[in-house]
Amino acid sequence: MTDEVSQHGFETLAIHAGQEADPATGAVVPPIHPASTFRQDGVGGMRGGYEYGRSANPTRTALETCLAALEGGTRALAFASGMAAEDTLLRTVCGPGDHVVIPNDAYGGTYRLVAKVAARWGLEWSAADVTDATAVQAAVRPGQTKIVWVETPTNPLLNIADLDALAALTRDAGARLVVDNTFASPYLQQPLAHGADVVVHSTTKYIGGHSDVVGGALVVLDAELAAELAYHQNAMGPVAGPFDAWLTLRGAKTLAVRMDRHCDNAERVAALLSGHPRVVEVRYPGLTAHPGHELAAKQMRRFGGMVSFRVAGGEAAALEVCERARLFTLAESLGGVESLIEHPARMTHASAAGSPLEVPPDLIRLSVGIESADDLLADLRHALGS
Ligand SMILES: *Cc1c(COP(=O)(O)O)cnc(C)c1O
Repeated sequence: MTDEVSQHGFETLAIHAGQEADPATGAVVPPIHPASTFRQDGVGGMRGGYEYGRSANPTRTALETCLAALEGGTRALAFASGMAAEDTLLRTVCGPGDHVVIPNDAYGGTYRLVAKVAARWGLEWSAADVTDATAVQAAVRPGQTKIVWVETPTNPLLNIADLDALAALTRDAGARLVVDNTFASPYLQQPLAHGADVVVHSTTKYIGGHSDVVGGALVVLDAELAAELAYHQNAMGPVAGPFDAWLTLRGAKTLAVRMDRHCDNAERVAALLSGHPRVVEVRYPGLTAHPGHELAAKQMRRFGGMVSFRVAGGEAAALEVCERARLFTLAESLGGVESLIEHPARMTHASAAGSPLEVPPDLIRLSVGIESADDLLADLRHALGS
């Protein structure tokens, strides 16, 4: 990115960072480069540093440059999925006998990767309530803990963690603060500015934004850590392909306008649910009654597009609501333009059953899309039977 571009605002960066017009043709959109290998001008004479498609690819570089700019990082790396990014991060920073702290309501896949996969290779872990800095502090084992892993808002309970406080205690313990920023997106929250060492994204969600591509990213400030991660990304090979990188970059251009509409609609959905007789609890950080509301107002631009709620009547009632919704499509995932509804205990968080991360059976999670808000509200009223 040119210096001129790096000083611009978020919306400008989303459209221009890493995306200068193609020098050969003037094309205003970065090309998809499918080439797996690049001609050398004499042995080792690489053009622009490109040698082999796993090591680096120009379309991927465009996406990585844009993501680094959006998070205020020095470098981003794009992966085949969010889980590929997480796996690479864990295996770069941790070894056998090391310890990580994860949220007690972590994304189910993160829990599974740590507790079922990395644990077999000797990684130790504890789950802590990340809304409680004292609890996180108590879970940290100085010298052994390499990562304090945080999501905020958390999934699916939408709890808010204090990034500044967690960054300070993590630094004191000689560990690294990793923030999964998938739910907020860089438009709403920039963890590196609050002292995080690594930002993780499932770009499958808001950054891609159209439910048509799976991808992941890591973003860092520290150049040495960036080099170690890039080394492992190349050594392990879980890279984003050029077509996927291109599609993700295309989505990222409209992130700001989409997020604003997701937030507008989610605020209206949260207000409807809060006054509904069949709803026993609404979890949305934009509600003043939410325990993390003030903190969210401090560290987020707005409160996001995810809303979770619990219904009267237990699991059977929650399943019925999920099945009665029409415009809200019954599906896993989130962050796309279309609204989704799901039952975390049976779907996204099924693998956490019987663990400290088990979620309430009467909980429903919404990914509020950018359709007409009135249509979304009518669909929810119908699904709730009123
Ligand atoms: C989806 C998701 C992931 C995993 O990303 P994939 O792209 O599905 O591999 C990680 N963290 C959060 C919060 C997610 O929602």
